[in-house]
Amino acid sequence: MPGKTQPTIYWLRRDLRLKDNPALHWAVQRNAPVICVYIHDTKSAGDWQPGAASCWWLHHSLQALSDALKSTGNQLYLFNGSTETTLKHIIEHTGADAISWNRRYEPAAIELDKKLKKQLSEQGLEVFSAPGNLCHEPWQVTRTGTKAEGQLPYKVFTAYWRASLKHESIAITPSVKSIPAYSKKLPDQKKLQDLQLLPTLPWDDQFPDHWQPGEKGAEKNLQKLLKGVISEYDTARDLPAQSGTSKLSPHLAFGETTPRLINAAVARKLKDKTLKADDNVETFLKEIGWREFAYHLLYHFSDTTNQPLDKRFTKFPWKKIDADTLKRWQRGNTGIPIVDAGMRQLWQTGWMHNRVRMVVGSLLIKNIGYHWLEGAQWFWDTLVDADLASNTMGWQWVAGSGADAAPYFRVFNPVRQGERFDKKGEYVRKWVPELARLHEKHIHSPWAASEAELTEAGIELGKTYPHPIVDLKATRVEALERFAKIKTP
Ligand SMILES: Cc1cc2nc3c(=O)[nH]c(=O)nc-3n(C[C@H](O)[C@H](O)[C@H](O)COP(=O)(O)OP(=O)(O)OC[C@H]3O[C@@H](n4cnc5c(N)ncnc54)[C@H](O)[C@@H]3O)c2cc1C
Repeated sequence: MPGKTQPTIYWLRRDLRLKDNPALHWAVQRNAPVICVYIHDTKSAGDWQPGAASCWWLHHSLQALSDALKSTGNQLYLFNGSTETTLKHIIEHTGADAISWNRRYEPAAIELDKKLKKQLSEQGLEVFSAPGNLCHEPWQVTRTGTKAEGQLPYKVFTAYWRASLKHESIAITPSVKSIPAYSKKLPDQKKLQDLQLLPTLPWDDQFPDHWQPGEKGAEKNLQKLLKGVISEYDTARDLPAQSGTSKLSPHLAFGETTPRLINAAVARKLKDKTLKADDNVETFLKEIGWREFAYHLLYHFSDTTNQPLDKRFTKFPWKKIDADTLKRWQRGNTGIPIVDAGMRQLWQTGWMHNRVRMVVGSLLIKNIGYHWLEGAQWFWDTLVDADLASNTMGWQWVAGSGADAAPYFRVFNPVRQGERFDKKGEYVRKWVPELARLHEKHIHSPWAASEAELTEAGIELGKTYPHPIVDLKATRVEALERFAKIKTP
């Protein structure tokens, strides 16, 4: 049977994959040529345009997707500029009569999607938006309030998690092997280099040693997880010197894999008994659940990307920013070893271990006293896994102003955190090489070492390594006083 001639547009965003892709699958099922379109439209992201590290990832992920599409007989069309205008031009030029996309849940994306859906449907196009990114749509898992309140969102993870287990996960969409091609050139079509996603200064030179953006890289990390990492996840995930976590976060952030594929791969291993159903597996699956919870929160409390969820924090007396202090934190020169190790790992690799994210965040917010948004913005620019839902939840959690947040009196002691989770100081030695020769006893508190011990390790405090940026004890007391003022409504 000959196919239809009017093409279908498949509009890609953070779903840069072929597997488990409902919007692509729908487009292919229409039995017409499919135009796969990526539009680099930074303005449509509102306050949260992709940061530099995300752009690096995006460049390589688009390259990988373009190669993968070629193997299906199709190709990737790239554009730069306004989504609305670009789609309008493509539709006019090609006579496309349908469009599909996988949903996004960021406030600016929801606004754009709604507008486009209305406009394009009114124009007579068939529009299909699909659940491409999560196991449960953010509005699916809710609790019952009073009659007047109706269904309410969860604010506590454990309750959300328990409820989510009672809802069936969104099913995996079958993969597409061949995608009918459109094959003609389109006006204003760009080459990948034209999008100018790579940095002009080569601060990204170490990224390729750590990452393989694209679906194949996601699959490799998933296999590493299943072959070993998951079996020790419960304890190893807290040790930043070890590769004890999946490193799937950037792949999930760019939709190169889905939580559904990850969960299904774990379920298969459990079923064929090559994996034991123990605390390790449960803890890992819960972490995937935290990601779902973050999207649930972002959807229901969309102003939390910039505003505290706990409104008592609206008038919190954050300290005035001193550019030099902020820069020392950003670049890992605070004089507090575990913090500097984390911030340098972030700068050099685009990723930071989860426990250390909490520690560096606590220092910035509680000891230094800066607004959590300063940290959220820096992470946004430098993380390859920058994800508005998880980043917002993470930073509000550390500040104590978010859902299920750390209590206000929880001020991480970075020295104790280091001694507990990086006992031998391997993580610090790796990322802060100027401390590499310091004895284990003082690796997390070089200021406590004697002059002789420092000299022997080749360290001169204030010269080869900075004095601590704050007095940890005094700033903790001060933080507790400031935070205590808002503890009652
Ligand atoms: C201040 C702060 C900011 C953060 N910003 C981001 C961010 O921008 N993007 C991001 O993906 N994660 C963020 N996280 C969560 C977490 O640190 C990362 O998801 C995790 O370190 C990624 O490494 P992994 O893939 O090896 O995780 P694994 O431990 O292997 O976990 C598997 C997956 O579960 C999800 N996950 C794990 N922990 C969390 C969590 N606490 N919250 C939400 N999802 C989680 C991630 O998708 C992760 O890939 C942030 C945490 C904090 C404290």
